[in-house]
This record gives sequence, C-alpha cells and structure tokens, in this order.
Amino acid sequence: MSRIKVHDKEFELYIPQDQIERAIKKVADEISFEMAGKNPLFLIVLNGAFMFAAELFKHLNIECEISFVKLSSYSGTASTNVVRELIGLDHAVSGRNIVLVEDIIDTGLTMNYTINNLKKLEAGSVRVATMLFKPKAFRENFHIDYIGLEIPNDFIVGYGLDYNEHARNYPDIYKIVS
Ligand code: 5GP
Repeated sequence: MSRIKVHDKEFELYIPQDQIERAIKKVADEISFEMAGKNPLFLIVLNGAFMFAAELFKHLNIECEISFVKLSSYSGTASTNVVRELIGLDHAVSGRNIVLVEDIIDTGLTMNYTINNLKKLEAGSVRVATMLFKPKAFRENFHIDYIGLEIPNDFIVGYGLDYNEHARNYPDIYKIVS
C-alpha cells in the first residue's frame, strides 16, 4: 500500500519493511559483537518497540535476559513533554549491563528520564538501542549506542509506531502527508 488513512490523517509509504529489517539486522550484529559474554538485560520499552524487538531478537544469539517496561510521553502527533512513570520493572538492575530497546528517539526526553532512573537503581551500565532516530529533534546529550535508521522530523507510523493507538500493525513505515 502506498497510502493509508489513520483516523483523520493521510500517510504515505516511507520506509519499506525490507529496508527496516536490514537496518535491524545491522543493529543486532553490533549488539551481538559488543555484548557477548556480558549477560545483558534488555528492557523493551512498550508499546512501540514490540515489533522492532521481535525482529531484533531473531538475530541476536548471545546469552541475555529480556524484559518489558512501559513509559510514554506522547499523545497525538506532538510530544507533550510530560514523561510518565516507568512501570513493570520486575528485574533487579543493580550492577547489570542494561540495553534499553526503544522504537524511536525524538527529543530524547523520554529516554533521558529512563536512563537516569536506571542509574539511580545502580545499573552497572546503560546502553541505548533505537530503531529510528530524529537527529534534528534531539535535545539531550546522552550517547545512543545503536541506531537503525536516522530520519527527518516527520511524524511516522507503522512497524509498532502508532497514531492514537492505530497503525502499529503495518509492516512498513509511513510518514504523514502534510
Ligand atoms: P521523545 O521523548 O524522544 O521526544 O519521544 C519518544 C517517544 O515519542 C517514542 O517512544 C514514541 O512513542 C513517540 N514518538 C516520537 N516520534 C514519533 C513519531 O514520529 N511517530 C510516532 N508514532 N511516535 C513518535
């Protein structure tokens, strides 16, 4: 499909599935190389990262643990700057090598908050893996260790990303038609 309608907005095909999955494979190879033997604890940031994570872990054949957390700063198509609580952390993180798995880093506010939280819980190390990164929107200065694809400042949906909870299921990424 080259165009989709989600609620009141039109979106056009932007990044096809094969390109996304090639980028994810590259991220998986980098993580496998760097994290082998470190027994990392991957924390998948729900909801948006579920599809990225499913593809990522098919290619990651190192010893590791995987868990899920939830945290969101988004409502509609613009960041609200309100960071909600981190919930669902059911593993001890003290001394662990954590890799946060995120769908997209926009301003970086959400991830910055999460990293600081994990540092307060005395994580041994905190790394960040994101499927997509918007460098022009980024306002923080933490290091992003693993990036799938860099994209401009457009609002996108698909491959786990939603517009008001719809369109997460599309296997391609679409951008808003302005
Ligand atoms: P940040 O705190 O980095 O500004 O925003 C991070 C969160 O905002 C992401 O986890 C994601 O849920 C949401 N987000 C940022 N950009 C987009 C976008 O283009 N499309 C969608 N659907 N969500 C986005």
